[in-house]
Amino acid sequence: MSERGERPQVKTIGLLGGMSWASSSEYYRLINEGVRARRKGFHSARCLLYSVDFAEVEAMQRDGRWEAAAEALLEGGRRLECGGADFVVLCTNTMHKLAERLEAGLAIPLLHIADPTAAAIKAQELRRVGLLGTRFTMEEAFYRGRLTHRYGLDVVVPEAEGRELVHNIIYQELVQGDIRPKSRAAVAGLIQALAAEHQLEGMILGCTELGLLIGPSDSPVPLFDTTRLHAQAAVDLALAGLEATETTAAA
Ligand code: GLU
Repeated sequence: MSERGERPQVKTIGLLGGMSWASSSEYYRLINEGVRARRKGFHSARCLLYSVDFAEVEAMQRDGRWEAAAEALLEGGRRLECGGADFVVLCTNTMHKLAERLEAGLAIPLLHIADPTAAAIKAQELRRVGLLGTRFTMEEAFYRGRLTHRYGLDVVVPEAEGRELVHNIIYQELVQGDIRPKSRAAVAGLIQALAAEHQLEGMILGCTELGLLIGPSDSPVPLFDTTRLHAQAAVDLALAGLEATETTAAA
C-alpha cells in the first residue's frame, strides 16, 4: 500500500521458492531483468521470496507425505500474503501437484506454471510436445492433464528408463547446482531420440532446474523453459496495471 492507502500500480510478486534454491535464484534474476527490460533505468521487481528448506520438502515427496507438503507450502504462501504479495509464483513444476490446495488456502492468486508454458506453445501454433521433469511431473495427471485438457496439447514423455535418467539427474545433481557435461549429453541425446521417434514440435523443460543444463543448441525442436516462461508471466502480471494506467494517461 502507498502512503495514501492506494495499491501501488506495480504488483508485488511473491516467490515461493527453495525447490530448489538453484532455480529460485534464476527466477530472481529473470524477473528483475524482465522488469528492467520493460521499465528501463534503475527499475527492478517488487518481490518477496519465501524459501523453504528443500531437504524437508524432498523427504515429504519421497515418502508420499503430500498432506504435510501442502501444509508447508501453505505456510510459505501465507507468509508471502502477510508480507504484501499480490500473487504467488510457486518456483517448481513438481509442487504444482498441490496447486489446488494452495489456491484454496490463500486469498491471493497463484500464477500456475503450466499456463504460460501452454500459452507459449500455442502462440507458436504447436501441438505435439515432449515433457521432461521429475517423475511426479512426467507420470502424474496434475501437470500433463492440465496441458492436455485445458489447452489441447499432445504431451509425450520418455519411456521408463529415460524418465529415471532425468529424475535422477534433477535430484542428484541439478537441485544442488551441480551441472555436468556428461548429463547434458545424456539429456540432449534423450531429447533428440524422443523428438525423432514421436515427431515432436517442441520440448517442455518441465523442471525449473533443467534450463541450467539444457539450452537451445541441445535440442532439434524449440524448447519451452518453464522457469523463463513463468518468470516472464510474473513480470507481465506485475506490470499489467501499470501499463494500463500509462496507456490511459497517454490517450
Ligand atoms: N524444481 C523442480 C521442478 O520444477 C524439482 C524440485 C522439486 O521437487 O520441487 O519440478
